[in-house]
Amino acid sequence: MSEQRVKWVVGNWKMHGRLAENAALLQAVADGAGALVDVIRIGVCVPTPYLAQVQALLADRPVAWGVQDVSTYTHGAYTGEVAAGMAAEFGATLALVGHSERRAYHAESSDLVAAKARRALESGLTPVVCIGETLAEREAGTTEAVVGAQLDAVLSLLSVEEAARIVIAYEPVWAIGTGRSATVEQAQEVHAFLRARLVQKEASLARVALLYGGSVKPENAQALFGQADIDGGLIGGASLKSQDFLAICAAAKAASLAR
Ligand code: PEP
Repeated sequence: MSEQRVKWVVGNWKMHGRLAENAALLQAVADGAGALVDVIRIGVCVPTPYLAQVQALLADRPVAWGVQDVSTYTHGAYTGEVAAGMAAEFGATLALVGHSERRAYHAESSDLVAAKARRALESGLTPVVCIGETLAEREAGTTEAVVGAQLDAVLSLLSVEEAARIVIAYEPVWAIGTGRSATVEQAQEVHAFLRARLVQKEASLARVALLYGGSVKPENAQALFGQADIDGGLIGGASLKSQDFLAICAAAKAASLAR
């Protein structure tokens, strides 16, 4: 029997938070995570100014942390950019790259996202590479072409050894922040397609973690995470409420144990 892939639950706080509310949220998540991380991995990707706070509060706690974007550069005259190496200095181990909000509002191309993933890896961070189709693309029947091309851009830049260290988050754009999650069948279908695409590059890439993101809630998490190719979730809105986030983490643990 092949070894089971570990499930991940990663929070994306987006541009939310203030020092006092962060402290309460992090404390509660770290307290609840203790009973879950024997089976799953938990992380939070926070706004960059809070890295020092998160490092102070989560050091020696069972929750990883990271940023929501990194620069394609290591340093230089790039005002406002944050280098992966800077985040790593604050103990970050995760970096979202290619979130659909970055692709849409900052015109990030798949090649740029791939370069960011490589920079993250160079600094020892695990890039969580976000891909997904818009509603118009789904309705036009081009979901696989779109997410396949987004994945290919990353796979063509990275070596197999590097690609083995990434995490992919499939996030249909129409499901993000809308309350409208993909059905388990829709999500599983795309995840199976992505896994097959990874295997086409190299058989060992079958083990790359594939997360689902888009309106994951305590009510739908276990059904999604119970699918054969769904290795956990990237959680936006629900990651800001400790009870909901921990319930989603508990669903990931339950789905792992049910396998
Ligand atoms: C996200 O921002 O990555 C996300 C999945 O958001 P939400 O869970 O709020 O849909």
